[in-house]
Amino acid sequence: MSVMRVLVSGGAGYIGSHTVVRLVAAGHDVVIVDSFANAKPTVVGRLEALTGTDLPVHAFDLTDKDKTERLFATEKFDAVIHFAGLKAVGESVQIPLDYYVNNLESTFSLLRAMRRHGCDLLVFSSSATVYGEVAPVPYQEDYEPLSASSPYGRTKVMIEHVLRDVAGIDERLKVAMLRYFNPVGAHPSGTIGEDPQGIPNNLMPFVAQVAVGRRERLQVFGGDYPTADGTAERDYIHVEDLAAGHVAALQWIASHDRKVSTWNLGGGRGTSVLQVVAAFEKASGMPVPYDIVGRREGDLAAYWADPSRANAELGWRAERTIDEMCADTWRWQRANPDGYPD
Ligand code: UDP
Repeated sequence: MSVMRVLVSGGAGYIGSHTVVRLVAAGHDVVIVDSFANAKPTVVGRLEALTGTDLPVHAFDLTDKDKTERLFATEKFDAVIHFAGLKAVGESVQIPLDYYVNNLESTFSLLRAMRRHGCDLLVFSSSATVYGEVAPVPYQEDYEPLSASSPYGRTKVMIEHVLRDVAGIDERLKVAMLRYFNPVGAHPSGTIGEDPQGIPNNLMPFVAQVAVGRRERLQVFGGDYPTADGTAERDYIHVEDLAAGHVAALQWIASHDRKVSTWNLGGGRGTSVLQVVAAFEKASGMPVPYDIVGRREGDLAAYWADPSRANAELGWRAERTIDEMCADTWRWQRANPDGYPD
């Protein structure tokens, strides 16, 4: 395996930061670009402590074409892992244009700079949301047509199409689209983790904030789904497994000729909201009081990945259990009750 110099966009964010640690551990040189619109600069010091290296950081938004061009003109990258983007589903309904402009333009700007400067490997953060509302469960990569029920999700669908089209006619560009299921957990050190600003939209950080006393009660959205306990089921995946999946995907596309690769990164099983609550209470020893309320608009009853393609091709699988996901989330939450310092 050859050592690569990798630009990680959104490298200060939740999944990006965990992937940076794994990339360095695998021997790669990492450069971060992050706008810090949704991440605290203090994460960088934590990453340097964890990796024992200096991490070059460029603080700008990739929608700035001139700065992106200048970065690629002055530094040589073998690959880009592109995490940067707006990601709150509910917010994307309120400010759709911001989502389309930000997520699409940053990708266009990156792609242009990559083509101009001979950077030929791109790993993109896609999402299980591209399977839409009627795909059969478990989700398989070949399913078409892609669709999504929020502007956020539609940016992922659109970017997948863009990357497929561009790589299809480009002599050298190779892309990997990684469709994430529900990333949770934190680095086992407890020094980096998910740090949502404001009220968390996602289940695990909300549960963690209830357990640590920052919020009073969890609202469980829907108790009448056609599932074993009536609450919705998702495929939770430890962010450490997810990070390992990025490194495996990058190394795979670097050493194979296939132009476009799509891999589900999930565990292949569903866990209900109430199972998450029970696992978190066990891991933390803290009560997580909840009320069952109405369904959240746009939510599906149950879905999970068929991860067999990633298993077979990458030799990768999600290894960590829901108990480990909760234990690691709790270690991070307890040590950093208010997230990263300013
Ligand atoms: N959920 C919940 N209460 C919350 C947040 C989420 O009951 O405060 C449920 C949500 O309805 C879904 C599951 O937890 O069934 C996972 O939600 P999340 O937003 O984390 O991920 P998504 O389902 O949007 O991928």
